[in-house]
Amino acid sequence: MLNKKMLELGTASSAIRQLFEYGKARKTEIGDDKVFDFSIGNPSVPAPKIVDDTIKKLIDNEDSVLLHGYTSAPGDLNVRIKIAEYIGQTSGVEASASNIYMTCGAAASLTITLNAIANEGDEVILLAPFFPEYRVFAEKAGLNCVVVNCREPDFQIDISALEKAINKNTKAVIINSPNNPTGVVFSEETIIELSSLLNKKQQEYSKEIFLISDEPYRELVYGDVTVPFPAKYYNNTIVCYSFSKSLSLPGERIGYVFVSPNCKDTQLVFAAVCGAGRALGFVCAPSMLQRVVAENLGKTADVSIYNKNRELLYNELTSYGYTAVKPDGAFYLFVKSPEADAAAFAEKAKKYELLLVPSDSFGMGGYVRISYCVSTKQIENSLPAFKKLIEEYK
Ligand code: PLP
Repeated sequence: MLNKKMLELGTASSAIRQLFEYGKARKTEIGDDKVFDFSIGNPSVPAPKIVDDTIKKLIDNEDSVLLHGYTSAPGDLNVRIKIAEYIGQTSGVEASASNIYMTCGAAASLTITLNAIANEGDEVILLAPFFPEYRVFAEKAGLNCVVVNCREPDFQIDISALEKAINKNTKAVIINSPNNPTGVVFSEETIIELSSLLNKKQQEYSKEIFLISDEPYRELVYGDVTVPFPAKYYNNTIVCYSFSKSLSLPGERIGYVFVSPNCKDTQLVFAAVCGAGRALGFVCAPSMLQRVVAENLGKTADVSIYNKNRELLYNELTSYGYTAVKPDGAFYLFVKSPEADAAAFAEKAKKYELLLVPSDSFGMGGYVRISYCVSTKQIENSLPAFKKLIEEYK
């Protein structure tokens, strides 16, 4: 007998994946340029040239056995030292290699972190709309998920709703800023209020409540927006970082967990992270990629292309009558569905070959997500279809 839950997860792919597969099939039927696929968050901007140059340099100059060999379980020490220095320089939070665990991207960072902290009966709070895999990862770690909606229309954290949801079983809150699917960046004011709420609740229940900060989009921000570093504001913070989006390396599977040195019993928390990494088989993240990212900290793919897409899509769609919060980061636009049932709206959009993800997948109804990490040409070509679609509701 197979594990029923795993069978279920492996058989039914996510709504986003289903739409993506539908798009691929539709493209073979009617042609690539006729389908406006906005389903998936696969970076469309290539990795910066320096990344490829670093890979070539390492291959040409380094001992091949060492370069492709196992590193120590939490990662190459020099790599972890460089990342810790970078965190210290850019955020002001003192870090050391003994707080950094190298992983296969944010997905692994999250599963490791959730498994490191979970005990029976514990709850984790997800702020809707949220990345759908949080539920999969948290439930597998044995956590019960409690959903709290963000505030509309600005999608900042609803602090009073969160306060009501926190109880003696709350083990952690997951935040994601810049956010998938809204593109919203949580303001410094929000992070300060969140931090003081969590401190208050920790005191009330005499226990630690972890803030898990999922940060694959940290550097993808527009204009002069800055993303507050949560570990600077709240001690019991664990950062789940990934280079998938910032360096356009999603297929290379590289990221890290950073346990704040200000966490209570930080080295015990880090030991639990190492234990979860071991138990889940996530030891020694890809060796060469560890070296590559350590040499390119702070660099990003060309964000100006996403910014161009963002301006074009937001300005055009709002001029046609759509409503959306203007994203400050990531590469998603979260558009209010003109009918209550977002799935029905997304189905109607398919008539115009527009592939939009209904927000029900993100734990909240009434919206669709548009991933604008596509070519600017695709956005330009799709605009008449968006216009016709909204006309149906006038
Ligand atoms: N968290 C969020 C919010 C994401 O959007 C994604 C990927 O799209 C992930 C985590 C997983 O990222 P990775 O590819 O680094 O595992």
